[in-house]
Amino acid sequence: MTNDELRGPGRSPLATVSALIGARRVPEAGVPQNPHESRASGILRPVVFGGNDGLVSNLALVMGVAGAAPAPGVIVLAGIAGLLAGAFSMAVGEYVSVKSQRELLEYQIEFERHQIATVPDQEREILIGIYVGRGFNREEAVQMAERVFADPDRALDTLVREEIGLDPRVIGSPMGAAVGSFMAFTLGAIVPVVPYLIASGGIAFWASLIASLAGLFLLGLGVSQFTHRSPVRTGLRQVGLGLAAAVVTYLVGTLLGASGI
Ligand SMILES: [Zn+2]
Repeated sequence: MTNDELRGPGRSPLATVSALIGARRVPEAGVPQNPHESRASGILRPVVFGGNDGLVSNLALVMGVAGAAPAPGVIVLAGIAGLLAGAFSMAVGEYVSVKSQRELLEYQIEFERHQIATVPDQEREILIGIYVGRGFNREEAVQMAERVFADPDRALDTLVREEIGLDPRVIGSPMGAAVGSFMAFTLGAIVPVVPYLIASGGIAFWASLIASLAGLFLLGLGVSQFTHRSPVRTGLRQVGLGLAAAVVTYLVGTLLGASGI
């Protein structure tokens, strides 16, 4: 069992990146940790990163198609198709990820239950080893392990957490993860498309670009909540990255459009 297989619930690549960002955060000395922080960011995190994903991918898509100067309606069609394709892809990915985490957890619990029933001494030794590794002396570790093993349910729960490293509480529902990421992606991806629904030509193009960059700036403010970095700088970084993606796909779209493909 590698650590990769035991990643948190519904960890898409984006969520993993956000977890890494979170892990790198260094709390300031003397500043008490807000006990609600992790819970709040647990909800905000997938929304911010899903929205960011939708915004960047659909902005790049819309700009790429716009660069080729197609017939009216094609950009909207591409934007809506890109939104749906991306949102379903995110939802399916999240569902499969969380579902397999749950199945893995169920398998591990059953395996551990079997181990406790058949080779309890071996499992007790494993727990003693874990406590010794945390700095308790052998005598203390034996005493603690014996307390834990006095109740089979508690022994099972403790071994699942300590030995396997899975926390049943943090694995959410597959459906919830799927619906949440679908909505977050859609909210981001709709931004570059809306101007093309109500206008066309240069006005729609610039409105789409500006609205998307403004959205990316706001999402950057959200990201800075997790990283505890400067909000403005994080916002501008998001804008820069999104703009770079948009410029590249626009140029590619222009080249392809000019070549008559
Ligand atoms: Zn075990």
